[in-house]
Amino acid sequence: MEIRVDHLSKEFAETSALRDVNLTVHTGELMALLGPSGSGKTTLLRVIAGLEMPNEGRIFFGQEDATHVPVQKRGVGFVFQHYALFRHMTVMENIAYGLRVRPRTIRPPKTEIQARVRRLLALVQLEGLENRYPAQLSGGQRQRVALARALAVEPRVLLLDEPFGALDAKVRKDLRRWLREIHRHTGQTTVFVTHDQDEALELADRVAILKDGRIEQVGTPDEVHEEPATPFVMSFIGDTSSLRVEVRQQAVWHGEICLPIAPEDRPDGLADLYIRPWDIRFVDGGDPAALAGSITAMRRSALGHRAEIRVASTGETIEVDVPAGLRLGPAEAAFLKIMHGRIFPL
Ligand code: ATP
Repeated sequence: MEIRVDHLSKEFAETSALRDVNLTVHTGELMALLGPSGSGKTTLLRVIAGLEMPNEGRIFFGQEDATHVPVQKRGVGFVFQHYALFRHMTVMENIAYGLRVRPRTIRPPKTEIQARVRRLLALVQLEGLENRYPAQLSGGQRQRVALARALAVEPRVLLLDEPFGALDAKVRKDLRRWLREIHRHTGQTTVFVTHDQDEALELADRVAILKDGRIEQVGTPDEVHEEPATPFVMSFIGDTSSLRVEVRQQAVWHGEICLPIAPEDRPDGLADLYIRPWDIRFVDGGDPAALAGSITAMRRSALGHRAEIRVASTGETIEVDVPAGLRLGPAEAAFLKIMHGRIFPL
């Protein structure tokens, strides 16, 4: 089921939570809504669900204008960050709940409900735990029950609001892969809210990046990572430093140094060059494209060392990945060559 959001705006008192948002989620797609806290992700999800009414704009489910269709009739399944399982019901009863409470005329027979629950238990890999109560499950297992419960009623679309937000990093990672796998099986149109870039890039077919209630860019994980449309997207999607440059005569200059970067089709004039830490090399001071600087800090991460370097000419600080084996100390001089970056005119 395709979801189309058309010129949507939502205000709460004096806050504009969504401003003229347009977005299409294709049938069978897994779309992540990614953005910092307060950017409007949850509001957008709630408007799609029918839990909030927009001030302006419309929502289509396929050809149907669903803007005024009440939440119970939209055919959406939800999973939220905080498990909303029924404590007094077993895993099996929780999953079957949405089917059991249907009016008699549309309720499947008992044997079919049982068969469906068994299939879902297998899908979410919780076979053997069907008679446990939520309190007897881990956080990750509870979220898997919540997903099975949402899927049981065969919703037209699945809406997930930070479903792994309350879990620790390792469990989150496992559940990401697992959700990807489930999505491959079910092909369910899914919208997923997260503020975690890695989660969005790893899971989603496409990512919509929000800032201050507006969509900054929609694209595949590769597109938003390799061709960010704005400085905000570039900084939000991965580690980035920026350096003031000038585009002049088909070249990119930092002061008197011509950087080995193509200006693409950027106009002449001042610009900010955004650079990833792995796109900068340590080179010899004799290199004509080398920027001189000094190390102000070194940091260790699981992936290696990273240096913070103050560029001598302008005092700007840039972050650079340090190759294994290269030993650098604080205040030491360094010469850097920028191999790749993205130019945004001022
Ligand atoms: P987070 O990642 O922190 O959950 P978010 O991107 O999901 O943030 P929203 O929850 O959609 O952001 O909030 C967007 C803006 O709307 C925020 O400024 C928030 O304070 C405001 N807002 C959201 N819900 C309400 C409400 N019920 N009443 C008033 N303001 C609200």
